[in-house]
Amino acid sequence: MDKLIMTPGPTQCSEEVRNALAIKNTNTDMDEYFFELYKDTCDKAKKIINSKESTSVIMLGEAILGLESACASFIEEGDRVLCIYNGIFGRGFGDFVDMYGGEKVYFKGDYRKGIDTEELEKFIDKNGPFKIATLVHCETPTGVTNPIDEICPLLKEKGILSIVDAVSSYGGEEILMDKWNIDVLLAGTQKCLSVTSGGTIIFLSNKAVDTLNNRENSIKGYYVNLKNWINVVDNKKFPYTHSDALINSINVALDRLINRGDFIRIHKELASKIRDTFTKCGFEIYPNDHYSNTLTAIELPKGIDFDHMFKYLKEEKDILIGGSIGKFSGKLFRVGHMGENAKEEKIYILLKALDDYFNYSNKNMDRELHIEFSKL
Ligand SMILES: *Cc1c(COP(=O)(O)O)cnc(C)c1O
Repeated sequence: MDKLIMTPGPTQCSEEVRNALAIKNTNTDMDEYFFELYKDTCDKAKKIINSKESTSVIMLGEAILGLESACASFIEEGDRVLCIYNGIFGRGFGDFVDMYGGEKVYFKGDYRKGIDTEELEKFIDKNGPFKIATLVHCETPTGVTNPIDEICPLLKEKGILSIVDAVSSYGGEEILMDKWNIDVLLAGTQKCLSVTSGGTIIFLSNKAVDTLNNRENSIKGYYVNLKNWINVVDNKKFPYTHSDALINSINVALDRLINRGDFIRIHKELASKIRDTFTKCGFEIYPNDHYSNTLTAIELPKGIDFDHMFKYLKEEKDILIGGSIGKFSGKLFRVGHMGENAKEEKIYILLKALDDYFNYSNKNMDRELHIEFSKL
């Protein structure tokens, strides 16, 4: 039996994407074919976020490389950086700000809710000015998706450059890069694109490109220096050797996503059904609003130990689900329903397996729980 990987990333690759990794290789520095493939992939990647104006870059490395590249490339010594957060990844940006010499100022939101744009505006007026703001679109450890459609236009109005981590939302949630005035958008390959990990995709607005070109000091870093990447297509020259296998698989994955049609609606409808199913069956969804459409974080019922549940699902059912991290570890379990996993048939299998697990564990719990998966 094939393992079913239902974690909120890495997600399960399709057979087509796996095969795309097995192309005959070429010399990526010298073969015109590779530049065309890279350019085509970058152009398709922009379609997912409805962007005509942005510059896209694909680097080799886990998505966290995108976060680090953005911080290394945009933050200069002494810059005031607003770190907007209501979750673990958002707060983590502060560490990058310290590392690259910025002065961080945190704006903390409620972890169970989307960022409140009105409160944020008051905070900026009182504590500004800021040159840069960092924020997370979908907080993967807790399943909250922030209203970047309101936040990014506000940041633009206040003259603040926005850096948005959309690693677990890109390809699953609506993102209008140009319309919402997002300056830097960061995505990965192993979440909604359902490609193996190893690629980071970065989109830069014209303002972001100008900001890079007008930096006062040189960028501290080699591979993470985005200035070396923004002109690779025009110059037909990469700063370092690229991977044709990975770019080819991203290209195929983008086609698959685009060919699914209205993939944003697909994610939204399935996510809503999953939340309803868990709620109706007596489980508590962690967020109170702004629910993610790419994953769902659910409170572990009393008497259930995550490691026990994980082991049962893995060993008895060949299914992987997610726990959480940091202070949510052992408190939440997470179901990924992004990309190739945003399919009802996979969710059925998972819910059936979870129901079997709860039937098997009900003796340990203060109440019985059953998942009425047939109602999905
Ligand atoms: C997955 C993810 C990343 C990448 O980091 P990992 O440690 O590899 O998971 C960054 N930001 C968000 C919001 C993510 O979901």
